[in-house]
Amino acid sequence: MNQPIVVVGAGPAGSALTLYLAQHDIPVILLEQAAQLPVDLRASTFHPPSLEMLDRLGVTEKMLAKGLVADKYQYRDRKTNEVAEFNMQLIADETKFPFRLQLEQYEMTRIVGDMLKDYPHVEVRFGHKVVGCREVDDGVIVEVENAGGRSEIHTPILVGSDGASSNVRKGAGIGFGGFTYDEKFLVVSTDFAFESVFDNLAWVNYVSDPDEWCVILRTEKLWRVLIPTEPGDDEATLLSDDFIQSRLRHLHDKGDSYAIHHRTLYNVHQRVSETYYKGRIVLAGDACHINNPLGGMGMNGGLHDAFNLAERLVNIVQGGADIASEFALYDRQRRQLAVDFVQKHTIENKKLMESSDPDIQKKRQAMLMETAADPVKAKAFLMERAMINCVRESLAVA
Ligand SMILES: Cc1cc2nc3c(=O)[nH]c(=O)nc-3n(C[C@H](O)[C@H](O)[C@H](O)COP(=O)(O)OP(=O)(O)OC[C@H]3O[C@@H](n4cnc5c(N)ncnc54)[C@H](O)[C@@H]3O)c2cc1C
Repeated sequence: MNQPIVVVGAGPAGSALTLYLAQHDIPVILLEQAAQLPVDLRASTFHPPSLEMLDRLGVTEKMLAKGLVADKYQYRDRKTNEVAEFNMQLIADETKFPFRLQLEQYEMTRIVGDMLKDYPHVEVRFGHKVVGCREVDDGVIVEVENAGGRSEIHTPILVGSDGASSNVRKGAGIGFGGFTYDEKFLVVSTDFAFESVFDNLAWVNYVSDPDEWCVILRTEKLWRVLIPTEPGDDEATLLSDDFIQSRLRHLHDKGDSYAIHHRTLYNVHQRVSETYYKGRIVLAGDACHINNPLGGMGMNGGLHDAFNLAERLVNIVQGGADIASEFALYDRQRRQLAVDFVQKHTIENKKLMESSDPDIQKKRQAMLMETAADPVKAKAFLMERAMINCVRESLAVA
């Protein structure tokens, strides 16, 4: 197999996969529709297994130099002021990185993008949008649009890591079942120092409140607040200064206006594609699974796909392994897990946060306080939430 593998999308999944292949001397063409690496307010938490995987490529060290180490996180009840704190040092015997690294995902793709420049057998083509694909006997024809017009590339294997609206997935005719929540999530960032007004505030906090729950987390740059909105509310209103200031004042009334650096309103989905591959076309990341951001499992799951798939591709290209068997193993190891673990946990996380029933809120906080106070239970909780269990379990699938 001498022709380059085509990878579509330079998000976290496509970038990590390309770097892995690059370091294994496998030629790749990475197609990205944007003119440069997208900079947007999305994932900002890297869990321990993702840091371990990226460490094998020499990326984690560079990320640590930029990011914020969050070695504890909290579930806060604003009504009672109770705080359940989970100390990630409890999993120090399980991972080299017993913390969440708070770093904007675009910082990771920038680091990887810079590293890719060292590999002459990798070509990154910005401004190249994949508009279709079709399988032929010995490979896949990829239809690409750029400023110069339309062209086609023949590749032995096409990887679609082109995000939730994946044209590769659509081109392969793979369904993307699941549902979209009625309400949208609003994310805003501010330079206000929340740690100066909340006692002992961790860098990551899930805050329950009878009127409105939220997530407050610190990235390496700013504080970020995630707020649910009401189904059917007008988008312009939700993004207005008035609305955002009122929600932040509800969180903490500091007497004057907050400086808002970013605001994004986005739809929240729970979907998994019906298969992760068809013939020589294979998917990774948001192209094959999306979920709500509570727990930070979307991008991390996509990175775990990327590393699993990269190993399969090395077996195929360098070990002469059978494409169908390798992709079937990838699908077994990663797809079922997306359904059983990621979808389950993220749907549960949202239900747990949003219930305004005082009884449920009380029980939830009591359960979290009890778990956090018991080192055995707290460790089990962290092993699950830090995605260590799910990665181990997926690798055990034959
Ligand atoms: C507000 C918010 C907060 C989040 N927080 C977290 C978190 O804390 N932790 C977490 O794990 N996840 C989080 N997520 C989810 C996370 O951002 C995504 O799961 C992650 O970006 C998926 O990575 P990806 O590489 O699969 O796809 P993407 O990041 O979507 O990258 C896809 C790339 O493909 C390119 N592309 C798309 N179509 C084409 C085409 N036709 N041709 C060529 N290129 C194309 C795009 O330009 C893009 O660069 C969050 C998401 C949101 C919206």
